[in-house]
Amino acid sequence: MAKWPKQSMVDSFYGNPRGENGEVDPDWLSDNIIRIAPPWKIITAWDFKPVKSIKVHKKCADSLQKVFSIIWNNAGMQQDKINEWGMSLYAGAFNFRMMRNGTRLSMHSWGCAIDFDSARNSFGDKTPNFALIPQVLEAFASEEWTWGGNWRTPDGMHWQAANI
Ligand SMILES: [Zn+2]
Repeated sequence: MAKWPKQSMVDSFYGNPRGENGEVDPDWLSDNIIRIAPPWKIITAWDFKPVKSIKVHKKCADSLQKVFSIIWNNAGMQQDKINEWGMSLYAGAFNFRMMRNGTRLSMHSWGCAIDFDSARNSFGDKTPNFALIPQVLEAFASEEWTWGGNWRTPDGMHWQAANI
């Protein structure tokens, strides 16, 4: 059995985050979104400010923590290696927002998606840098997270705990 729901079924698996006036439902937020941190130092990908923790859905938080621990081991627990791979450049996790085409909510709205190193893995880039880093790709794949780098319009910065 698949570990994660199909994208079309995320409401029943993660709950419905939609509140009033296009905002997130505050009760859903406090019941479901928790903070975790990778074992290495991270900074924001857009202005390089230190980040203490990452907001994700509690149902995929343990899994993401496992992914992080595999990546950390694959990097020989070396921050330099993590930096080289771009995994210190945090580009967002839980964020209640529409998809780029503006019709549906992004998977980030359920807290089941995470982005790294947006500069070298930008939306639409057909040769994302993460394609060259099996140590990261395999870690996410081992927990059945879907990578956006293979999509028709690639989103190489993006992983999600939801199936297409
Ligand atoms: Zn994303």
